[in-house]
Amino acid sequence: MTEVITKQEREEAFAMFYGMAASIGELADPAPEMTDEERVERAKEVFLKGIDNNVAVQLDACLHCGACAQACQFFIGTEDPKYTPIHKLDLLKKVYKRELSPLSWLLKPFTPDITVEDLRNQVELVYDSCTMCGRCNMVCPSAINIGDLVSLNRSAMAAAGLAPAELRYMRDGQEADGTIFGADEDLFMFRIQDIQQKLGFEIPLNKKGADVLLMTSGLDIHLFADATGGAIETLHHMGVDYTLATDAYEGANFGSLSGYDATKKKLTKHSTEAIEALGVKTVIVPECGHSYPALRFGAAEAMGRPVNFEVMTVSEYFGRAVMDGRLKLEKKSHPKPIALHDPCKVGRWGGVFDEPREILKACGYDLHETESNRQYNFCCGGGAANFLLPSADKLKRVGYRVKMGEIEAAGAEELVVSCGSCRMNFEVGKVKAGDSIPVESLAAIIAAHLPKKETVEGDKV
Ligand code: SF4
Ligand code: SF4
Repeated sequence: MTEVITKQEREEAFAMFYGMAASIGELADPAPEMTDEERVERAKEVFLKGIDNNVAVQLDACLHCGACAQACQFFIGTEDPKYTPIHKLDLLKKVYKRELSPLSWLLKPFTPDITVEDLRNQVELVYDSCTMCGRCNMVCPSAINIGDLVSLNRSAMAAAGLAPAELRYMRDGQEADGTIFGADEDLFMFRIQDIQQKLGFEIPLNKKGADVLLMTSGLDIHLFADATGGAIETLHHMGVDYTLATDAYEGANFGSLSGYDATKKKLTKHSTEAIEALGVKTVIVPECGHSYPALRFGAAEAMGRPVNFEVMTVSEYFGRAVMDGRLKLEKKSHPKPIALHDPCKVGRWGGVFDEPREILKACGYDLHETESNRQYNFCCGGGAANFLLPSADKLKRVGYRVKMGEIEAAGAEELVVSCGSCRMNFEVGKVKAGDSIPVESLAAIIAAHLPKKETVEGDKV
C-alpha cells in the first residue's frame, strides 16, 4: 500500500476540520422567519402527508412493552425515559389521533392542537437523540419502524424552519452548489491529483462506458484520503475498468440528513443523471453510511423509474471480490485483536455483514466480535449527522461509551470501520475520553494487504 496521507497529516487535518465543524452553526443563515402558526401549519402538513395506512397501523400498534428502550444507546446511556424510542413519535401520534384516526371526529373537539413549543421540544428528540440507526426497530414486536418515522419528524421540523443551524448550513451549501465542507471540484481535483502522484498511476476521470464509478465524499476529501486512496489503489490492482467523475463525486446527501426532502431528491437526481450519462454498470459509494441508502434506495425514487446501475458500498464491492476470488489479499501477522463496527445504514439497512468479515479474514486479522454486531450492532452515537451537532455533544459521548465499552470488553486493540461519520465520532470520542485505540478505514486496510505484483504474476487478481 502506498500511503496517501500520513498519520501526522491526518491528525493535523482532523484537528483543523473538527475546529471548523464545531463552529459551522455560526455561519448558517438565520432560520427562516415564520409566525408560530405558520410553523405549526407547515409541520402538520408534512405529518399528515406522511401518515399513510402503513404509518397509521404502526402508530396504533405499540404494546408498551419497553423493548425499544433497551435497544437505544441514548436511553441505555442516560436512563432518561424521554429518550425511549417510541416517545420520539408522540407528537406524530398526537397529530394522527386528532386529525386522521378512526376516532378523530370524537377526539378533535376535546384535544388541543400541537403548538410551536411542542415542535421546539421535538427538535432535540429527533436530531440530537436519534441517529435513525434502526436498532429499536429490530426488537419491536409490533415492527414499528421508529427510525424511519423519526425521519418523517425531521422533515416536519425542517418544513417548520426548526432544523438545527449546523444542518441548515450544510443543506444550504449543498443545495446551492452540490458541495459539502467546501469540497468543490477544485478541491476534489487537488485531492485526486495528490493521490495520483502518490500512487504513481493515472486515475481515470469522466470515462464514459467504464464498468465502475467510484464516488467519494467531502469528509474523505478533507480528512480520510486513505479511504478514497485505498479504494482507488485496489480497483487499479484488480484491473477494473473504473472511473471517478467531476460531476458525480459527492456521495453525501445533507438533504436526507437534515430533513429537507426536496434537496435530498434534487441531489440524488443530479448524481443519478450524471451516472447514467457516464453509462457505468456499478457505482461504489464511499465509506459514508448514509451515502448508501441515499443512492441505492433513493435513485429510483428520485427519478420516478428504475435505474440501470447497481449501487454497492466499498466493503460490499471488495468483500464480494474476495469471496468470489477476484481479489486475493496477502495474509499478514496481526498480533493485536481487531473489532469491526458495522455501520447502521450499510449493515442494518443494506445487509452488508459477511463481506467486511471475509476481507479481515483474508488479511489474517483476529476478529473479536463485539457483543452487539451485525444487524443488532449499536450505532457509534454520531450517525445521521449527529456528529456535527454541538448540542448533541453529551449524547454523542454516551453513544460512544456504549459501543466503545463493547469493543473494550471484546479485548480488541484496534477498530476498523467502513464509514467516515462513524470514524469521525470514534475519533472525537477518543479525544474526549482519553482513549487511544487506533480507528482504521477498511478500504485502507484492503490496500495495505494487496499482494505485490511479482507474487501474483500470472494470476488474475
Ligand atoms: S433509531 Fe436508533 S437512535 Fe433512534 S431511537 Fe431507535 S435505537 Fe435510538
Ligand atoms: S418495542 Fe415496539 S411495542 Fe414495545 S414499547 Fe417500543 S414501540 Fe412499543
